[in-house]
Amino acid sequence: MEISERAKSISPSVTLEVSAKANALKAEGASIIAFTAGEPDFNTPEYIIDGAKSALDEGKTKYTATPGIKELRKAIAEKFRKDNGLVYTEDQIVVSDGAKSSLYHAFAAILNDGDEVIVPSPYWVTYCEQIKMCGGVAKVVKTDEKSGYKLFKSQLENAITDKTKCLLLNSPCNPTGVVYEESELKDIAKVCEDHGLYIISDEVYEKLVFDGKKHISIASVSQYAKENTIVINGVSKSYAMTGWRIGYLAAPLNVAKAISKMQGHTTSNACSVAQYAALTALTGRDGENYIRFMASEFDERRKILSSLLDAEGIKYVYPSGAFYVFMRVDDYFGKSYDGNKITGSVDFCNLLLSEGVAAVPGAAFGEDGFVRLAYTVSKEDEIEGVKRISTFLKKLV
Ligand code: PMP
Ligand code: GLU
Repeated sequence: MEISERAKSISPSVTLEVSAKANALKAEGASIIAFTAGEPDFNTPEYIIDGAKSALDEGKTKYTATPGIKELRKAIAEKFRKDNGLVYTEDQIVVSDGAKSSLYHAFAAILNDGDEVIVPSPYWVTYCEQIKMCGGVAKVVKTDEKSGYKLFKSQLENAITDKTKCLLLNSPCNPTGVVYEESELKDIAKVCEDHGLYIISDEVYEKLVFDGKKHISIASVSQYAKENTIVINGVSKSYAMTGWRIGYLAAPLNVAKAISKMQGHTTSNACSVAQYAALTALTGRDGENYIRFMASEFDERRKILSSLLDAEGIKYVYPSGAFYVFMRVDDYFGKSYDGNKITGSVDFCNLLLSEGVAAVPGAAFGEDGFVRLAYTVSKEDEIEGVKRISTFLKKLV
């Protein structure tokens, strides 16, 4: 059988592949510090597991409404009101199998063949592939040290063509950890308004924001933004629920309806028991405490990892959110490890594995000069991991 041109054009998910490789090596008994996993290393909190158990006992094991159970959509609408100052009716909320699925359906609902989506780089690995899967064209706009790895208003303006349909924004950003300020979001929203662009705003790391910064949803900065943004979020990162596969989005009513209609033909609905678990996560008394605990734990690890890298003179993008450090490695290109020349981030990561450290090549995020370290590991592993990175760098000739 021959696969389609569209399927041929899609690259595999490097984040998932590299994590799987690190896990396989560990399972074989290798000593690997895996800075690869883009998921909290905590177990799902007990109160959520209890909520799922009750749902099972109560026989909540059937198909649900396509956009998700009403109680959950209501709880999500309440979350948007409380956390983001955004008022949606429950009909504007669609629950999907993870935020990844929410994103896919969002692109599918608004893109016609050939429509362009502006994607600031570094970007999360999945955006460009999903845009292609939906017939769109990703227009990557490079951000750099000068702009603090954020999209400048002028860069956005310059990237717009008569085919541009939409801007993809991700704050806090995977892989850089960069968090946009309200004034920056206002500037971006104004450019979108001036050019009639839609916005897809991926806010899955909203609860992991540090240094006294505050997460602002771009949908909340103007009336235009509210009416033209699809906000993507989920419980994977906020409540350590990656395996439960529950994401959600809020959108203008006609878009939410179109997404629900399509979802009726792709997945029917997100897993029923997982939806009840997500409902418990969002409405349970222990939720706020849990988020506070997890965020402070990640903050501590962030500080430890950045000070360890500072002590080694290793450069990186300073992160204010999410749980990643984007480490600069282009200074080492051209050098060799054990007779093997490093020509890019993929070589760097492959060779670094020999010293027992797994990381994700920046090439997966559109920036070959970097590698991504996820501090979803213990503090002890952070110390050991940076020690091994330092040993690796010292061996380069
Ligand atoms: N957006 C970003 C930026 C992510 O890092 C992830 C993590 N996989 C997702 C969306 C999707 O999250 P999930 O499908 O687990 O809800
Ligand atoms: N978001 C995580 C990451 O970037 C999980 C893997 C994935 O879904 O791509 O590593």
